[in-house]
Amino acid sequence: MGYNEEYLAAQQNPEAYWAEQSKRIKWFKAPETILSKTANGTYSWYADGEMNSCYLALDQHLETRGDQVALYYDSPATDTKQQITYKQLHTKVARFAGGLKRLGVGKGDTVVIYMPMIPEAAVAMLACARLGAIHSVVFGGFAPNEMAIRIDDAKPKVILTASCGIEFEKKIAYKPLVDKAIDLAAHKPAHTIVCQRPMMMAEMNAERDLDWYDCQHGAEPADCVPVKGSDPLYILYTSGTTGAPKGIVRDNGGHAVALNYALHNVYGMNPGDVWWGASDIGWVVGHSFIVYGPLMGGCSAIFFEGKPIRTPDAGTFWRVIDEYKVNSMFCAPTAFRAIRKEDPEGALAKKYDLSSLNWVFVAGEKLDSSTYQWLDTLLQVPVIDHWWQTETGWPMTSPMMGWDNPSEARLGSTNKAIPGYDIRVVDGEGQEVEANETGNIVVKLPMPPGVAWDIWKQPQRFTDSYLTAFPGYYHTGDGGFIDDDGYVYITGRTDDVINVSGHRLSTGEMEEVVSSHPAVAECAVIGANDAMKGQVPVGLIVLKAGEEVEENQLEAELVQMVRDQVGALACFRQAIIVQRLPKTRSGKILRAILRKIVAKDDYKMPSTIDDESILTEITELMDQAGMR
Ligand code: AMP
Repeated sequence: MGYNEEYLAAQQNPEAYWAEQSKRIKWFKAPETILSKTANGTYSWYADGEMNSCYLALDQHLETRGDQVALYYDSPATDTKQQITYKQLHTKVARFAGGLKRLGVGKGDTVVIYMPMIPEAAVAMLACARLGAIHSVVFGGFAPNEMAIRIDDAKPKVILTASCGIEFEKKIAYKPLVDKAIDLAAHKPAHTIVCQRPMMMAEMNAERDLDWYDCQHGAEPADCVPVKGSDPLYILYTSGTTGAPKGIVRDNGGHAVALNYALHNVYGMNPGDVWWGASDIGWVVGHSFIVYGPLMGGCSAIFFEGKPIRTPDAGTFWRVIDEYKVNSMFCAPTAFRAIRKEDPEGALAKKYDLSSLNWVFVAGEKLDSSTYQWLDTLLQVPVIDHWWQTETGWPMTSPMMGWDNPSEARLGSTNKAIPGYDIRVVDGEGQEVEANETGNIVVKLPMPPGVAWDIWKQPQRFTDSYLTAFPGYYHTGDGGFIDDDGYVYITGRTDDVINVSGHRLSTGEMEEVVSSHPAVAECAVIGANDAMKGQVPVGLIVLKAGEEVEENQLEAELVQMVRDQVGALACFRQAIIVQRLPKTRSGKILRAILRKIVAKDDYKMPSTIDDESILTEITELMDQAGMR
């Protein structure tokens, strides 16, 4: 069957299509119910099947590929390389799971993981999955305040961390950040388990902290605990329009079927192939395509602790591809923009043999045409832009590289819908628009397996965030259009989420921090286009009456506050003092218009605006600040 037939089959009878796909993974008990509706009015795939995600990632391979490398750990940051076979990884995971079990961690318990890209981080995730415990990985760049919010929401029994992470050549002490987060949080986990790295040992608190290896010493290796297809595997927090991050809940069954489907059909990978997800376990890509997907699919996965440049140079990606004979990789465009800036001619790439590489996937943010063309010319392999989000857990649009005649790339498009995703574009009233017309990108329900259907402990918030705006459809939060041939074009978010170097951040969260400055009366944080990072946040600040603070001083203070309370990853570096902000008559800041002004997009004057002249005022200030 070709793409058209597969797509139609999935659209016309989703249950039959995904029942067939579910047979390609090993269940302890095969599901009888394929698709069901939940009490919350959402969906559930394979609810009564029994399985274990760690079994699929490790145990099932022991006989057939036990001595194959499961993870190639490559850390130019610490000059370390390590090859871990499936058998070795299995031993490590079963032992660590045994240690966690002895501490009382079991099915349904939550565990927060705050770790750098070291193999122990993968061990941590898989050990939780083995026990049926629910992990929540918090990206290492988040500040203690952000971690504390996640601790209070997930209420973990234990926190797993390491003594330090490495940012370029700088060591970042992780343990004090975890201590601070626990101090700030109302919920207190019973233990922090610390993986001590020799380059920086953490001070331990005798009452709460346990050493990574001591805690598993003498513990019985743990077996896989059967879980239901609909039981949660992990919680991953992501930014939404409103301040508090959303704990996206991923199930076990749908996730495993979807990853197996995506790895083979979308990414074109086969067991034994070498795969590199060049991201971090703190993001959804790290969950789906650094750890679970490639291991479930029997690939050898690269686990890379470094940066595309300066570790030691902009040739590091090409060195990794050559050294491990990488067949396919995934990366955010920002990494290639950084490499290109350092090495515009691609001279470093020419030093290496890249012939193993079949294609390169990019996603997470817009792929600009100039980076695409540079990469395409340099590598001479398909450069594939594809689109997904934390909530979906796997791609929504992409060519199917595992099939004959995958659809060709089209500049500016993230390609066609993957079978299972019935993607439409609707206007503000939910009416479908014509081809090539821009609107809200939505997906007709039900969505395929793997997609999240819940926000941790807040099912109503899930419905409100994704299913209410356009009844019958999932609201992606992205705007764009579909051309006459079904190619999807993403133009950007339609909400207050911005994308900084492929990291999704809420401007609302930054606004909360900025407005807590004593001189600030009100503010709007919006995303300005940036050649390297895609977008960067910029604060428009209205001062309290009578405040005479110096602009540079205020900017420096706000930058530091956002750095301390959100994290360095926010890249908040610019604050502009304005006299007033454009508002509706009911007093709402017109953020959508501000976004359009900064993007130099045309906008219609909203009928609800209070005072039109403010827009000219703001446009001039933005121009002076070089923001447009
Ligand atoms: P995240 O949930 O952090 O993976 O971010 C998802 C968001 O990133 C999407 O909603 C899009 O706004 C954006 N995004 C992801 N992939 C692409 C892509 N290929 N092109 C443009 N934007 C993308």
